[in-house]
Amino acid sequence: MGKKSKGKGNTQAGRESNVSLSVKVDKARMKINGGVFVYSGDISVTELSKALNVPVNDIIKYLFMQGKMITINTILDDELIGMVCLEFGYDFQRKNLVEAENFEALEINDDPSKLKPRPPVVTIMGHVDHGKTTLIDAIRNSNLVDSEYGGISQEIGAYQKEINGQKITFIDTPGHEAFTQMRARGASVTDIVVLVVAADDGVMEQTKEAIDHAHAANVPIIVAINKMDKEGANPKMVREELLTNDVILEEYGGDVISVEVSAKKKDNIDGLLEAILTVAEMLELKANPDRYALGTVLEATLDKNEGPKATLLIQNGTLNAGDYLVVGNSYGKVRRMSNEYREVLETAGPSTPVSVIGLTEVPLAGDRFMAFPTEAEAKEIASKRKENSTTRNKNLKSSVTSLEDLYSKINEGETQILNLIIKADTTGSAEAVKQSLEKLSNDQVKINIIRASSGGITENDVLLASASNAIIYGFNVRPDAVTRSKAEEEHVEIRLHKIIYALIEEIEAAMKGMLKPEYVEKINGQAEVRKLFKASKLGTIGGCMVIDGTILNHSLMRLIRDGVVIYEGKIESLQREKDAAKEVRKGFECGILLENYNDIKEGDIIESYSMVEKRSDE
Ligand code: GDP
Repeated sequence: MGKKSKGKGNTQAGRESNVSLSVKVDKARMKINGGVFVYSGDISVTELSKALNVPVNDIIKYLFMQGKMITINTILDDELIGMVCLEFGYDFQRKNLVEAENFEALEINDDPSKLKPRPPVVTIMGHVDHGKTTLIDAIRNSNLVDSEYGGISQEIGAYQKEINGQKITFIDTPGHEAFTQMRARGASVTDIVVLVVAADDGVMEQTKEAIDHAHAANVPIIVAINKMDKEGANPKMVREELLTNDVILEEYGGDVISVEVSAKKKDNIDGLLEAILTVAEMLELKANPDRYALGTVLEATLDKNEGPKATLLIQNGTLNAGDYLVVGNSYGKVRRMSNEYREVLETAGPSTPVSVIGLTEVPLAGDRFMAFPTEAEAKEIASKRKENSTTRNKNLKSSVTSLEDLYSKINEGETQILNLIIKADTTGSAEAVKQSLEKLSNDQVKINIIRASSGGITENDVLLASASNAIIYGFNVRPDAVTRSKAEEEHVEIRLHKIIYALIEEIEAAMKGMLKPEYVEKINGQAEVRKLFKASKLGTIGGCMVIDGTILNHSLMRLIRDGVVIYEGKIESLQREKDAAKEVRKGFECGILLENYNDIKEGDIIESYSMVEKRSDE
C-alpha cells in the first residue's frame, strides 16, 4: 500500500472533477497549461519526465516509494500519471476525444483566469393573459424607435437587449412549456425567470406552476407586477399572494426583487431591465469566450431554400462562421450565421442567440451543440455519438424490422417493441404524428419513437433505423435515391404517407397482428416404442411404430407410460430406415431419439404435438 500523495488530495477525485474538454485542437499529446498537465493517449515514464521537467529517476524513485515498480519504459496509467503529477506540483487532466462525444454530460472546467462576465439569459413566464407577450414586445421595442432596427421583424426566437452598455438575452417563447421541454431534454438555458403577474388578477394557476418550475430548476425569479396602469391594480395583494407561494420578496425580508410595470404603456421597462442586471451581477455569470462554442438549440426548422436552420444559444465559448458543429448526432458547418435582425455575423460570443445554416439535419429544440475547428474532429465525435445512441436504442431489444414481419416475430418476446423513426415536413406535424402513435401503445405492443423530426429521410435515418431495428415513416417527405438504396442495402423499411389517419390505421392493423396470440395444442400423432437401441454416442433410440397421425421431427413431445405422462420435451431426431425424416406417418416404423432423455421403455407412447397460434378476435 502506497502512501497518499501529498498536495492536492485524492487522485481519483481530482481526475473526475477534472473531466474537462479541451476543445481547441492541441496537436501535442501533452502540455502544461496553467499548472495542469494535459495529456492524451499513452504516456511513458520518459515522456512524462520530459513534459514535467522532472528527472526520470525521481519519478521511478517516487513511484517505488509508493509501492509501484516501474521501469523507464513503462506506460503509465491514469492513476500513476495522477500520482506523479500531484507529487511534483501539477494538476492533471486527460484530454480525451472519446469523452467529448458525451458533451451533454461534460462539465467544462475553464481556467478561471479566462472567464469573463456574460449576459444573463432570461425567460419570461406567467399565467395566461397576464401580459407576457406584451412585455416581450415592450422590452424588444423599448429604446428602439429611433434605431435602425425599429420595425424590422425579428427572425429568431431569442434576442438581445442592451441597457446601460450591458446586454441581456431574452428567450422569446413565453410560457413554461418551452422551458420544461428544454429541461426535460437536459438543457438548462435560463439564468433568470421573469415572472409576470397581473396586478389586477394576482397569483393564478400557471403563476404557481411557473414558480414550481423555476424553483425546480433552481433559477432565480424576478417578479414583474404588470398592468399597473389598470384601475383594479393591487400590487400589495400580488406581493402577499406570492409570499404564500414561496416567493419571498425583498419587502418581506426575502431576496426576490419585484418591479411594477405596465407592458402596455411601456412604463418602467427600464426598471425591470435594471433589476435583471442586478440579479445577473449577483449570479456572477461567466463564460470563457476563448474556446470553441458550446450551447443549446433553441429551435430549428427546415428551410426550403437554405436547408436545416437552427437558432442556437451559445452558452460558452465563441462561435465563428466556418466552424464545424456537432449537433445531436450529426455534424455540419456554420455556413452562415446571423443575428435576430438577419445581420450576418462572423463571430458570436457567450449568451448570444444566433441563427445558423449549414447543418446536415434539422436538430431538436434542446439538443446540445459543440463547435470544432476541424471537420475531422466534428465527424469523429458525431459518429461516436451515433454509435452510442444506436447502442442505446439497440438495448431496447426490438426485433421487429418490418410491418409484415410483426406477426411472425410475436413469439419471441413478451412486450413487443416497435421502434419507429418519424420524419415529417414540419416539426409540428412530426410532433403530431409522434403523439398520435405513442397513444397506440398498449400492454403488448410498445411504440417507441426513437426520432421524430422535420426534414427528408436521410441516410442517417436509415443507419439509425438499421442499428435499432426501426421502421421509418415519412409523412409528406420522401427519401432520395441514395437513401433509398441505402435502405435496401440495410434492409430498412421505409413507409410513406400523406394523411395522418392512414398512417395510424396501418400501424393499428399491424398491431392487431402483433397482439400476443393465444396458443393451442395440436396433436400431430403417436408412436409406440417396440424396441430399444442403445447407441453409445447418442443415447437410447426407440424403435417405434406410428400408431396414429404423424410424428414430426423436432416437434414437442410427451412420453406416456401406462396412460401417465412421465416426460415432456422435444424430439431430437427422427429416422426412417437409415435416413433422417421430417415426418413419419401412421403405419410406418421409425427411430426416435428424444432430446436429453434416455429412459424410454418398450410399450411407451411418444406423442408428437405442436403449439399453434390462435388469433383472438378482439
Ligand atoms: P400573455 O397571454 O401572458 O402573453 O398576455 P398578453 O401579452 O397577450 O396580454 C393579454 C392582454 O392583456 C392583452 O389584451 C394585453 O393588451 C393586455 N395587457 C398586457 N399588458 C398590459 C398592461 O400592462 N396593461 C393593460 N392595461 N393591459 C395589458
